[in-house]
Amino acid sequence: MADLYTDVRYIKGIGEKKALAFNKLGVFTLYDLVSYFPRKYDDRTQYRPIAQVMDGESVCIRAVVADTPRLAHIRRGMDLVKLKAVDDSGVVDITYFNQSYVKDNLHRGESYVFFGRMEVKGAHRSMANPVCEPEGKENGVTGRIVPIYRMNAGLSQRVILQAVRQGLALCGEQLPDVLPESVRRRCELAPARYAYENVHFPADYGALELARRRLIFEELFVLACALGRMRGERVREGGIPVRQADLSEFWSTLPFSPTGAQRRAVEQAVGDLRGGGVMNRLVQGDVGSGKTLVAAALIWYVWKSGHASAFMAPTEILAEQHTHTLSEMLTPLGLRVGKLTGAMSAKEKREVKAALKAGALDLVVGTHALFSQDVEYANLALVVTDEQHRFGVGQRSALIGKGQKPHVLVMSATPIPRTLALIIYGDLDVSVIDELPPGRQRVDTFAVDESYRARLNGFIRKLCGEGRQVFVVCPMVEENDELPTPLKSAEEHAKELAAAFPGLRVACVHGRMKPKDKDAVMTAFLAHETDILVSTTVIEVGVDVPNAALMIVENAERFGLSQLHQLRGRVGRGQHKSWCILVSDADTEEVRARLSIMTKTNDGFKISEEDLRLRGPGDFFGARQHGLPAMHVADLGADAGTLQRAQQEATMLLREDPGLSREEHRLLRERVERLFSESADSFN
Ligand code: ADP
Ligand code: MG
Repeated sequence: MADLYTDVRYIKGIGEKKALAFNKLGVFTLYDLVSYFPRKYDDRTQYRPIAQVMDGESVCIRAVVADTPRLAHIRRGMDLVKLKAVDDSGVVDITYFNQSYVKDNLHRGESYVFFGRMEVKGAHRSMANPVCEPEGKENGVTGRIVPIYRMNAGLSQRVILQAVRQGLALCGEQLPDVLPESVRRRCELAPARYAYENVHFPADYGALELARRRLIFEELFVLACALGRMRGERVREGGIPVRQADLSEFWSTLPFSPTGAQRRAVEQAVGDLRGGGVMNRLVQGDVGSGKTLVAAALIWYVWKSGHASAFMAPTEILAEQHTHTLSEMLTPLGLRVGKLTGAMSAKEKREVKAALKAGALDLVVGTHALFSQDVEYANLALVVTDEQHRFGVGQRSALIGKGQKPHVLVMSATPIPRTLALIIYGDLDVSVIDELPPGRQRVDTFAVDESYRARLNGFIRKLCGEGRQVFVVCPMVEENDELPTPLKSAEEHAKELAAAFPGLRVACVHGRMKPKDKDAVMTAFLAHETDILVSTTVIEVGVDVPNAALMIVENAERFGLSQLHQLRGRVGRGQHKSWCILVSDADTEEVRARLSIMTKTNDGFKISEEDLRLRGPGDFFGARQHGLPAMHVADLGADAGTLQRAQQEATMLLREDPGLSREEHRLLRERVERLFSESADSFN
């Protein structure tokens, strides 16, 4: 007896080779198979008389083969089968390229259904490579809405379709319904089996819509439950009390005045701190908008009440830089600032941990080392996480679990629509910093191709001659990258640049280096001991090198717009006029459109909207970007309404049964746990 977890090899017609091809698509079991949803659908529901089909229309025709199909060898590697088909209204010439076997399947005088695109030239009608089957064929691929699957070389549409059909027949009965009955009824969703059957083989468009609605809801609901369970219920009551302090005391210590937006964000956060509840606030602001200062003000604020803060950065380099900036701002005011990162020696770590336990630090800045199990905080009242999307949700809650319900400030430079913030961050209050510090100049951006290489090199030479520094970013070259365009790795490119500029000092930093070595290279660049820094995107977030005036991005087509925007934010941070050059030889309409957006605007929110529009949320909200698992049917951008509903239902359910431990929630719990394990790497 087959069950949901039976291997796909069990299916008739699926041998070793096809099974491997399925595996490559992520399909191992029958459950995977029936969960392998179509990419799109072909509408083959319309039948038309031959003479009434217009040029370019794709429809079904019922026709009799009027002559014996003829096979012709046109040239090497090119066979043609030609035949005429007729109905009461007219004649159509049908041609098959390189499918000589159809010659033996189509018989003169017999009736077939053909589905294809009609070409009409004057009175002449023709179809090339139509789908064809005998009239009245059971479970056929004409006369209905036909699923089209994402495929690979070892498979064909027909093989997948037949496998899915068998899979449904074998285990359709056993498909679990992970949605609690009450949720399903309240939200008017179709039962699981109906949904799975109709998403593959919809009886009509109404059925397809019902099926999709249910599956989208299910996927988002499982996601919401998974995130909600990890996060735990938001604690509202009993926040650590913070006394009123006079912020102008802090502002007056700065060499500049805070922008209006910074003031607002701080005041909103202070409102939370003083309101008696636990603060849970997201601060969104474009690169360079001055989020660090907002954090510093709040760290100072809770310190005035005798409390400590932890500031978590996503990388060693950033932890280092934030330690530096925050100490400079806060140590003169009397705060004791420490650092805790994985790269520190065991002895250093031990000392910092002892200090934290003894309450001898007012601020600790660090990486995820901050929430290792053996770190204890004496008086932690505020947790700040920078560039939040780099952390898994689980990590944040691990840190929040330290101490007594600390207040939480999350800082993000990636603009996220409200609905999505809701699911990723839970029930957060949001402040937006929509104003850049004064005097910030626009970074002029150009998109160029290889033919500009010589001029670009001249520009590098000129800027470095004036004492500026240059960032060069190359895409990460993945080992199994099979793309046709050769990608330069950061290391190779650095060698080329070193050869091209004998007088300049070229350094390279990439993800495979040890944190210590990375730090050394970055520190040397900061100190202007090197002129050109070639890197993969390790420099993407936060690093501040005011003397850098040029950002060059190689193979720019490989980056998302939001990512390019982040990269561009690395320059123009000092008083020097700065440029960003996007180099790409990819010559498609889509790439050109995307890169040209970068040359036209510096507004991060606008850019993220365009990114979303052009690439779709699949990429934009990709697993890597936000620590979310990939979605199969749902579209986090387009299905925002459903997302909200699923989120509400998940919150309600988790309130009743936080561990999903009731028997009626067992299936749901299993799915939720499977989602964790499948996307384990994106959560930690
Ligand atoms: P981000 O929001 O990208 O984290 P940062 O906090 O790193 O931005 O700030 C970017 C730069 O702007 C820093 O060098 C910081 O000192 C400076 N800065 C922040 N606020 C102001 C301000 N109100 N006036 C002038 N410069 C500011
Ligand atoms: Mg920052």
